[in-house]
Amino acid sequence: MTQVPDIRLNNGITIPQLGFGVFQIKPAETVEAVTTALKAGYRHIDTAEMYQNEKEVGEAIAAFDVDPAEVFVTSKLSNSKHGFDDALAAFDGTYDAIGKEQLDLFLVHWPLPTVGDFVETWRAMERIYSEGRVRSIGVSNFTIAHLDRLAEETDIVPAINQIEAHPYLSQLDLLAYDTEHGIVTQAWSPIAQGAVLDDPEIVDIAGDHGKTPAQVVLRWHIQLGSVVFPKSVTPARIAENIDLFDFELSEGDMKRITALNRDERIGPDPETFDYLPD
Ligand code: NDP
Repeated sequence: MTQVPDIRLNNGITIPQLGFGVFQIKPAETVEAVTTALKAGYRHIDTAEMYQNEKEVGEAIAAFDVDPAEVFVTSKLSNSKHGFDDALAAFDGTYDAIGKEQLDLFLVHWPLPTVGDFVETWRAMERIYSEGRVRSIGVSNFTIAHLDRLAEETDIVPAINQIEAHPYLSQLDLLAYDTEHGIVTQAWSPIAQGAVLDDPEIVDIAGDHGKTPAQVVLRWHIQLGSVVFPKSVTPARIAENIDLFDFELSEGDMKRITALNRDERIGPDPETFDYLPD
């Protein structure tokens, strides 16, 4: 079975560099999708309170023939649960829904700088971590300015920054900042939900390696040092997306893919995004 490398976080724990994302997988389809991923060898699942499928992720892991401690599970704080007390209570909900003895990673899903104060929310994350309720804490969709504020006003450096990243939005300056500060970058929508897969450069490089465009793009992230968790409900693609560790992109291939950057988001801008679910 494919050997996925581990990456060490700034508190010493390790995370598999490749996982399985469950955004937009309906609750009723989540157990089947996660089970297919576990069978294919994935040992890292990325969910969130706002995806409404934390419980099904936990159910799939509990029912599978694996020690749950061997499956790295990430979840994220809902946008509607910022603030110190609300964040603490929201963590309890996530913890119960997933049902693992210890959650591996909990992230602030969005900074919401126009809505409230993410520094106060981060202090709740520090409390949850200090109490040993979660193995690591991090942020998602934080810019350099947001991370600078945390560095100035709080104690614990996030272990992770999960950001939108793919060949059309490489965010190499943010990746470099994260690395310099001991923060591991996770790339969400790593294949831009499919939008980069017809790119002629990527198709050409895939042909050179006898791999698919998705495998080439995921491999580019891996070689940049990022953590990825492509989503799919299609069993053949779930298998394809983990089959990345028997080839290597050359320096030239890496440069050709990096040169495709257009600073083009498919998701919202973290500076202005203010979505609050009911
Ligand atoms: P991805 O870039 O992973 O793309 C998923 C889409 O690509 C699906 O439509 C899937 O189709 C298709 N696909 C998957 N594999 C292949 C393949 N090998 N060939 C062709 N098409 C393929 O997008 P996501 O937005 O889902 O991002 C991945 C994960 O990142 C999420 O699931 C979530 O965990 C996380 N995320 C985090 C965010 C944040 O704010 N922190 C925001 C968005 C995502 P199908 O399922 O039909 O096979």
